[in-house]
Amino acid sequence: MAEQIRGGIANEAKSVVTRSAEETIAWGREFGRGLKAPLLVLLTGDLGSGKTTLTKGIVAGLGAAEEEDVTSPTFTLVHVYGDDAQSSGVAESASASLSATPTPTSAKSVVYHGDLYRIESFHDFETLGLEDAFSKPAVMILEWSEKFPLQAPWPQVRLKLEHMGGDTRRITVG
Ligand code: ADP
Ligand code: MG
Repeated sequence: MAEQIRGGIANEAKSVVTRSAEETIAWGREFGRGLKAPLLVLLTGDLGSGKTTLTKGIVAGLGAAEEEDVTSPTFTLVHVYGDDAQSSGVAESASASLSATPTPTSAKSVVYHGDLYRIESFHDFETLGLEDAFSKPAVMILEWSEKFPLQAPWPQVRLKLEHMGGDTRRITVG
């Protein structure tokens, strides 16, 4: 599967259908294993389409945290995984919104997981200081990134999630 995913990033859009949250997490884990920092991972899809669920797998695949420790940053806005120093500088001016998680030492890279759903103004978006993260290679996974333009010097990959009814979701890479 990893080969397929890498091919999907390099070539045309590829999609996969999952039939449970566990399947989405498992797919995310494989996908995460094939990623290399620096990278921006843009997740699009409606509420409940599985963006946070997929992120659990991606973060686990990157070795930055256990999937059960990855929670939605809907209210906290940005979570950081795999950062031993916990001193990313991101969201410094909104430190209450930044929560770091204890990290396995084998982490391949620092992972930021942001969610712009509750960000209402461009000013609030800027206050997050996401750009500060670009000073060091990391993987930044963003939910609702389409709400605000982020000037990112990193390569990016877009994952689109679609609710297909019941527990069925389609994930499209590209
Ligand atoms: P989002 O972050 O896009 O709002 P979440 O990942 O928070 O979505 O929520 C998705 C919900 O759908 C979770 O409760 C999850 O357990 C459930 N779910 C059911 N089937 C799937 C699936 N195939 N893939 C992902 N999540 C699923
Ligand atoms: Mg979410």
